[in-house]
Amino acid sequence: MNFDQLGLVPPLLRAVRESGYKQPTPIQTQAIPPALARRDILGCAQTGTGKTAAFALPILQHLDASADDEPALRALIVTPTRELAAQIGESFATYGEHLELWHTVIFGGVNDKPQIRELRKGVDAIVATPGRLLDLMSRGEINLSKIEVFVLDEADQMLDMGFLPDIRRIVAKLPTKRQTLFFSATMPDSIRTLAATLLHDPIEVAV
Ligand code: AMP
Repeated sequence: MNFDQLGLVPPLLRAVRESGYKQPTPIQTQAIPPALARRDILGCAQTGTGKTAAFALPILQHLDASADDEPALRALIVTPTRELAAQIGESFATYGEHLELWHTVIFGGVNDKPQIRELRKGVDAIVATPGRLLDLMSRGEINLSKIEVFVLDEADQMLDMGFLPDIRRIVAKLPTKRQTLFFSATMPDSIRTLAATLLHDPIEVAV
């Protein structure tokens, strides 16, 4: 399988090529076509499998297809740690190199003013950790009412870190009509139960 068989648009194929990727990884081959078809996905995959591109490429294509002149917050990626958030943000920058889309990364433990400044400029996508996201939502800096794609990344780690109540608070503010991409390295019952509440008729992919 090659990248150009997955249904990706030329600016994304170009970015993938410039990243030096020769072939999609198994999670990319399995997840990208249904994600482009706007299906929900329950993905069992660890970091290092190419999981970030598996969700970032379809999200960028989705955002680009309906982009207006002004950015509008339409994609939200929630991940447990600031390191993961920063890495995902870098991936969005790399894969979105040839598209006119804006994203920002939101995490705690640092001054919030630069993050608020970026948000106020307007973004199409946010990559966030739960605590700072909820904080900025409660202060009216982030509004999730127009989110079209929601990613929950490293769900098992989120639960281990005690983020379940935060996840529920975030999800309560999302439109019910949306695409949800759910990734976890492991699939214990607690994760399947959470996934069942968030996903609608998902495609299951495992690597
Ligand atoms: P991730 O699992 O998303 O953290 O990705 C792990 C690493 O694999 C990152 O450094 C990516 O840049 C790299 N990567 C992702 N997809 C591919 C691919 N198709 N071919 C080669 N490297 C890749």
